[in-house]
Amino acid sequence: MKGAILYGPRDIRFEERETPEILNPTDAVIRLSATCVCGSDLWPYRGAQPIKGPSPMGHEYCGIVEDVGSAVKSVKPGQFAIGSFFASDNTCPHCRHGYQTSCQQKEPVVGAQAPLLRVPLADGTLVPLADLPSDDLIPSLLSLSDVMGTGWFAADAACVQAGSTVVVVGDGAVGLLGVLSARQMGAERIIAMSRHPARQKLAREFGATDIVAERGDEGAARIMELTNGVGADSVLECVGTQESMMQAIDATRPGGYMSYVGVPHGVELNGAGLFFTHVRLHGGPAPVRRYLPDLIDLVLRGQIDPGKVFDLMLPLDQVAEGYRAMDERRAIKALLLPLAQT
Ligand SMILES: [Zn+2]
Repeated sequence: MKGAILYGPRDIRFEERETPEILNPTDAVIRLSATCVCGSDLWPYRGAQPIKGPSPMGHEYCGIVEDVGSAVKSVKPGQFAIGSFFASDNTCPHCRHGYQTSCQQKEPVVGAQAPLLRVPLADGTLVPLADLPSDDLIPSLLSLSDVMGTGWFAADAACVQAGSTVVVVGDGAVGLLGVLSARQMGAERIIAMSRHPARQKLAREFGATDIVAERGDEGAARIMELTNGVGADSVLECVGTQESMMQAIDATRPGGYMSYVGVPHGVELNGAGLFFTHVRLHGGPAPVRRYLPDLIDLVLRGQIDPGKVFDLMLPLDQVAEGYRAMDERRAIKALLLPLAQT
């Protein structure tokens, strides 16, 4: 089997890799219908996050169950299933509280940029569909595995409600789907912070009512202007830098909620500064498993179309171009289609 392997900064190769198989009785192996490149894949790709030797890449997936271990009960070969980027048992105390990405048995799912993938803890991790979906739904269903689930968590963790004023910091795929999620949750005003015309357009399509191009202190000042000096009820931070975190906190009203779902890189918060903001913070790796059943239902009923976030589709063997296009911000998100015979 051939799959994507990262060797070092900007050196991603599509080459022979071990074919995944059942290692534990709780595993499943799925044949991917589609996979994609994540914004978080760009951190190691750019060398901003060290890797220990050649690393199989990819953690977003959906597809047909090919094989299951002897202990797996809830999914069977032939079913179409979606899972989270962290495997979870879905039974431990953290899972029962809805924080499956903090599962006591959590395991990262790695190597999804390939035709086949081993998924640990299949019963807890995978959500099977009752019927095989039509091809046109695959991009939206794939997005639920991480990017859409993360956008939804950003909105949920920031307590977006009917009538809320919401700010979304970050115009990557997660930020854009944060806009869509806030819209779906009934937000009245959604201010997307973006200076990129194509992304501004998609933000508007997803439900943004205002666009703010300024960033940093100027961006936060512009939000204050737009909210009569009050700040927003809910701010979704979808980047993970010092500047974006501070911009998000400064844009939130006292008593408001700020969620952060971009993996922080070099972020440090000042305790005294935070103390006087009265802002409620909640974030982390999105527990997308919690949301999968409801989000699958919304996609199947045609209520949401998060697959629009994929503006580049490539055969899997061109995975390197997918990374390049996202790195250079020529593409918002690249969808990869495994080749039939690999
Ligand atoms: Zn658990």
